[in-house]
Amino acid sequence: MAAASNNFVARLRALRLPRVCVAVIGSDAAEMVEKAESLVRDNTFLEFRLDYLPRPALALPKIKQFNEYHPHVVSIATCRRVAGGGKFRGSVASQLDILGKAAGAGCQLVDLELQSASRCKPEQLYRLRSRAALVLSYHDFRATKKLEETLEKMVAISADFYKIVTTATTLHDNVLMMKFLEKHSDQHSLIGLCMGEQGIISRVLGLRAGSVFTFAALNEDEKTGPGQVTAQDLHSTYRIEQVDAATRVYAVAGDPVAHSLSPAIMNAALRRETVNGVYLALHAKTLKDLLGCVRDIPIHGLSITMPYKQAILSHLDNTDSHTTKIGACNTVVRAQDGKLYGFNTDTAGVVRPLQQRMSLEKAKILVLGAGGAARAAVFGLKERGAEVYILNRTAGPAQRLARSARARIIKRADLKKLSFDVIINATPVGMGNTWESPLNENEIKAHYVFDMIYDPVETRLLKMAKAAGAEVIPGVEMFVQQAARQFEIWTGKPAPADEMMRVASKALEERGVTGHAKEAQKK
Ligand code: NAP
Repeated sequence: MAAASNNFVARLRALRLPRVCVAVIGSDAAEMVEKAESLVRDNTFLEFRLDYLPRPALALPKIKQFNEYHPHVVSIATCRRVAGGGKFRGSVASQLDILGKAAGAGCQLVDLELQSASRCKPEQLYRLRSRAALVLSYHDFRATKKLEETLEKMVAISADFYKIVTTATTLHDNVLMMKFLEKHSDQHSLIGLCMGEQGIISRVLGLRAGSVFTFAALNEDEKTGPGQVTAQDLHSTYRIEQVDAATRVYAVAGDPVAHSLSPAIMNAALRRETVNGVYLALHAKTLKDLLGCVRDIPIHGLSITMPYKQAILSHLDNTDSHTTKIGACNTVVRAQDGKLYGFNTDTAGVVRPLQQRMSLEKAKILVLGAGGAARAAVFGLKERGAEVYILNRTAGPAQRLARSARARIIKRADLKKLSFDVIINATPVGMGNTWESPLNENEIKAHYVFDMIYDPVETRLLKMAKAAGAEVIPGVEMFVQQAARQFEIWTGKPAPADEMMRVASKALEERGVTGHAKEAQKK
């Protein structure tokens, strides 16, 4: 029995199993194979999800042809039953029959879930294993628990690979999965990861913890598991092939973070400056959960976003005096000894784009808003000698900020009489497709108008400012410069700001953020 199976493992080792397997689905066999064809140039490891097809067995002649035509491709055949979380409605016997035929069609691996395998006779599994390497799989669609117990049940059945896929409901579930992989991957060939939006850590770092390979989606619309990352993102954004024990982990943490541009620009910067690092987006539902991961993974640097910029302060070992004054932290560094230090780089995000255009000494600057971003702007501008005015919807926060930063307050009624070198919008007014503006046309009298909002790229305020003859600074410049400063704090290297801007602009364009503005203009 062992001889037959070892043969396959030896063969697969010789093939050097790639680290990322792309799941391929389709509404019929032709579409599935067409998609596989479109992938093989960049991906040599595919999983045919036969259970997604209405009649899986009919696809096998096409898959055979495909495998013969692409001998360098390694493929897994999966025909998961509904009871195991798949779509196949047939019996265990017909599932085994399809997998056996898939092996005959050249699929070097077959995936069989524990629920089905437990109902098979040893000779049935032996027969299957004599034709292809067996991946015995287990999926938990609710939680990450009882990993040891599950493995114990699984190894009672002889297989070539044991695949355990759970669901992360906290970030810490990734730590559980990776510790489990680290502990057992020298005794068994394991594949382990957590599904769900919070499972991203295990999808990117699972390989270095001991998972033999991981899974990816063909594209955003064709995910076969919740939270699955596309093959393109795993390869080019996260550079998964290069993630090793020495790779430093950085992340943006907030709630929500799904649409953050930070992973795109930070990973591009790490790649450009050849830093062995990877940057993830972590949906942190609590700070406690996040801080546990910072310690256990460990995470070397964090970008902190809403709603934790203030709350993180009490968890830090130290902050610089500037951050203490602002009362908000958007950057955390984890030192060698595990201590956490906080910084605020939103100030650099405001000051740098302005300094590239003008001297701030004695510049007359109006800041709209008195929240966290406005505070970073006001303190930073005052420190550089600017004359700062604050206008806020509510009097109290504006008065407190003006008092502590030695800035002035103005009333909206006074705006028509005043002109400024710069007006900065630090309120959310105009965000998304609202097409609102914090100021009216006759209130915009400034040389430069800087909107912190970057969705849309051209806000209504900026459009009106342009029409009034002002030069405009879009919020994406702030976004890139605050990120550039974070990169410098973490790596000690100058940030490739131009490359970061190129990636941010492209990502915004792809998202159709500029489209929001166009739509709104039509209204
Ligand atoms: P925040 O702490 O919640 O402060 C929001 C400020 O806007 C408050 O002063 C609030 O006034 C005012 N405001 C809210 N809704 C308003 C309305 N309908 N009309 C008038 N004023 C209103 O938020 P924040 O963190 O400072 O962020 C402010 C903006 O900057 C957001 O749009 C954020 O996306 C943007 N930002 C951009 C970057 C970047 O990298 N480009 C970085 C940080 C922030 P009250 O005191 O009256 O509530």
